[in-house]
Amino acid sequence: MIPLKSERDLAMMRQAGRIIAKIMQKIARFIREGISTEEINRLAEELVYKENALPAFKGYKGFPTVICTSVNEEIVHGIPDKRLLKDGDILSLDLGINYQGYFVDVAVTLPIGEIESGKKKLLSVTRRALSEGIKQMRENNYLSNISYAIQNYVERQGFSVVRQFVGHGIGRALHEEPQIPNFGRPNEGPLLKRGMVFAIEPMVNMGTWELEILDNGWTAVTKDRLPSCHFEHTVALTEKGPEILTQFFL
Ligand code: MG
Repeated sequence: MIPLKSERDLAMMRQAGRIIAKIMQKIARFIREGISTEEINRLAEELVYKENALPAFKGYKGFPTVICTSVNEEIVHGIPDKRLLKDGDILSLDLGINYQGYFVDVAVTLPIGEIESGKKKLLSVTRRALSEGIKQMRENNYLSNISYAIQNYVERQGFSVVRQFVGHGIGRALHEEPQIPNFGRPNEGPLLKRGMVFAIEPMVNMGTWELEILDNGWTAVTKDRLPSCHFEHTVALTEKGPEILTQFFL
């Protein structure tokens, strides 16, 4: 069962989305060469509580921090620590909050200083893959067309999509039905309806789609240690089509 949100639910999620967007924008502006990922987490924690929200990831199945900071070959679930960002790195930030009982989830990958052209392409392809997925969020379209659009676009650009982690429904819980893989065949699964809200989140690798989990039990890294990129928005399907609830500008 895919939960459908009422107008009131959507109004609350819009508020939550505006809050997380504001927080992410502030964090993104703070990011630069020479700061540690731990400092990013401290800022994220401060900003989340200042907005009277709660972190959605900290404590989730024991995850230790408010934000995920995944650098270069790290795909998702990078844990902030003393590591310093350096020129040429790419940094994926993933943040979820709970605002008055409503969850929203967003991720962005940022360049640190000047990055090489392969990484630039990886970032632009992943950002575009997210918008290709969002475009499929139309009433009475098949759920799997989101997955298909993302995979099809990414693979035509010569990159691969991660299989082990997927997008998801979101609302009163961080993870609701359905799962939204970044791969799949077209025209399958349930039909999309007004009131559905999804966290769509392509994770795109420069090389192989295969991954490994580091000894911390959390952090996923590419098996070939080539870079990986992650963009995510929380998106509602309304009478006007897809509405991005977590939009922010850098
Ligand atoms: Mg998510």
